[in-house]
Amino acid sequence: MVMSKEKALIEIRLAGLAQGTHEFDFTCKAADFADPALAGAGFSRDVSVNVSVEKLDGEMIVTLNTSATANLTCDLCLAPITSELKGSYRIYYGYEQAGEPQEERDEEYRLIDRNTLALDLTEDVRETLLLSVPMKVTCKDNPDCRVFHQEKLSEPGEDHLPDSDWQESLEKLKNKYR
Ligand SMILES: [Zn+2]
Repeated sequence: MVMSKEKALIEIRLAGLAQGTHEFDFTCKAADFADPALAGAGFSRDVSVNVSVEKLDGEMIVTLNTSATANLTCDLCLAPITSELKGSYRIYYGYEQAGEPQEERDEEYRLIDRNTLALDLTEDVRETLLLSVPMKVTCKDNPDCRVFHQEKLSEPGEDHLPDSDWQESLEKLKNKYR
């Protein structure tokens, strides 16, 4: 990857940021991420990102909230669906101490230098967008699709045997001893 001196797409300036909670809003285009996976997932329009940075004594908590329109397809009837997708992701940053082993505990816990000037969240926002795509997509206002839903629901259950079976046996038994 080529290091660019250009400002990152989603960047938080940390220099001079006071302790406390700070909110940042970004609006960009899905195409700005230059990622074919985003286009493939149906993102082609505006992307809104809200970033909340909670700067504490020993750590920093960054919460991302994404909102973007995606062009999806119904899993059942293949009708096109336009849906507003919301995603959320939280990252904990701990400040690096000199001499301390620099080991990351997990993906959401990262070490950061106390003098870091800016935080590039472009990659995290990109992943949050991809994670906001639902596993199952079905349309709601399409009557043709609803018929299909109902057909699926009214499938006869196999474990539901009619009660008449044992009643019939009982009648036969009664007749036998009459
Ligand atoms: Zn459908």
